[in-house]
Amino acid sequence: MVSTRIDWHEYFMNIADQVATRSTCDRKHVGAVIVRDRTILSTGYNGSVRGGVHCDDAGHDMENGHCVRTVHAEANAVAQAAKNGVRIDVSEIYVTASPCLTCFKLLANSGVRVVYYKEFYRDERISQYARESGIELVFMGKQTSVIPGADDVPEREPTPRAI
Ligand SMILES: [Zn+2]
Ligand SMILES: [Zn+2]
Repeated sequence: MVSTRIDWHEYFMNIADQVATRSTCDRKHVGAVIVRDRTILSTGYNGSVRGGVHCDDAGHDMENGHCVRTVHAEANAVAQAAKNGVRIDVSEIYVTASPCLTCFKLLANSGVRVVYYKEFYRDERISQYARESGIELVFMGKQTSVIPGADDVPEREPTPRAI
């Protein structure tokens, strides 16, 4: 009998999808799950500052074509770890959309070593930063496009390496 049990990568990305449903800005719902040794260390979605108004209620806070009201999912996952005193050095993150440059830098300096993402979002500079900092960017989406100009970034299928 063929097992239909999903692999760990799908498992964590599915959880990131669920986390994204808590987003407070409907311009884009993003979810992030930080993992080490198949254990979830922290999660985050793009949401307003703690106690602040939500875009759904107050409208978006637009700047240069982007809503800046929310803390991004990846940043919130790092913040949640910090708030609870959870070490995330040498961890991996599953995020439903590729990090913006600011979040990428935050992840890099928090010790996240692998970024699994499902959809490319906006900033191709992360491929260069990833290369320079030795961080793996792993595309897990269905669409054929990868990060523009990232031909020499070691893109690979997420399944061959067991975690
Ligand atoms: Zn918004
Ligand atoms: Zn970001």
